[in-house]
Amino acid sequence: MTVRVGVIGVGMIGQDHIRRLTRVLSGACVVAVIDADLERARTVAEDLPGVRVHETGQALIADDEVDAVVVTSWGPTHEEYVLAGIGAGKQVFCEKPLATTREACERIIDAEVAVGRRMVMVGFMRRYDTAYRAMKAAVTSGEIGAPLLMYAAHRNPSVPSHFTSDMIINDSVVHDIDVARWMLDDELAAVTVLKPRRNRKAAPGFADPLLVLLEMAGGVLVTVEASVNASYGYDIRGEVVGEDGTVELGESAGAIVKREGRYSGRVPADWRERFVRAFDVEFQEWLDAVAAGGTTGPSAWDGYAATVATDAGLEALRTGQRTAVSMRERPDLYKQQ
Ligand code: NAP
Repeated sequence: MTVRVGVIGVGMIGQDHIRRLTRVLSGACVVAVIDADLERARTVAEDLPGVRVHETGQALIADDEVDAVVVTSWGPTHEEYVLAGIGAGKQVFCEKPLATTREACERIIDAEVAVGRRMVMVGFMRRYDTAYRAMKAAVTSGEIGAPLLMYAAHRNPSVPSHFTSDMIINDSVVHDIDVARWMLDDELAAVTVLKPRRNRKAAPGFADPLLVLLEMAGGVLVTVEASVNASYGYDIRGEVVGEDGTVELGESAGAIVKREGRYSGRVPADWRERFVRAFDVEFQEWLDAVAAGGTTGPSAWDGYAATVATDAGLEALRTGQRTAVSMRERPDLYKQQ
């Protein structure tokens, strides 16, 4: 079956996902697009023969030719489109965040629970990265024993001038939060954010780097170093220390050259280069699940947990205090994942 996809929001990542759906993966066909900027939507549609440009997300979702919806618009608009997709009985792939407030995420959870089956996948693509999957397999196999500690680093070479310390939590650390929950199969209990000496390249008033401590409910401690002016490249690191051993995140695929007593390899330029393959695998697994009549991967519950945790992270950043993470009870729908 070919899944006929409608894309809401054709900015940077929306266009990249359209490229992926039309040129890289199998089993999908993009049939409709919409964007707040109608001209941008028309321009994108010019390269996609037969694609309809709708004027609203609601019209795209109601289109009989659209089987499934990809939401890649600005975060605060996600709730409206995800709820409309669920209401129309269409599977939804929503880029992170699922929604920007705890309450909005809860409304999505309530709508999905009322339908009685999962309709939403959230785009936490690191779960599809080969190196992260190998790390997770080592943790769940028990070969390193019970996890005790996890170390993560998230380094961007630079960020645009509008970037703020809040965005380090919302746009960078949110991925590490999802990885910690998934890797350790546990929820967060509390977040603390520490501010080391400021990088001289950070704009005035901008705290960078940050050191984020995640306390997991089961007692594992996770540190996330988040730096957005690292200069040398996009560097993602991870290690889980267990009772009997440790597992480190492998470096991204690429050649390592050894000559004249030295060795060298490439550091990815940005997250697109580092995770390009993970995005492909993520979308192929979603398409396959939709073709089979369901969905897969990070759920609305995972989206909710990430938003609640980043909210706690923002409060911890603001107050300098350890901030508890409190979540509602997990509905049965999300208990077998
Ligand atoms: P972007 O380039 O600004 O694209 C967003 C697009 O949505 C823009 O074309 C914007 O139009 C449009 N839009 C805004 N409001 C809309 C509405 N009500 N209905 C339809 N379209 C609307 O942003 P982006 O970087 O692609 O990010 C989009 C989403 O993907 C964000 O939620 C972001 O967090 C997520 N993302 C995830 C990852 C990841 O690692 N998984 C990476 C990048 C982005 P205007 O420009 O006219 O406002």
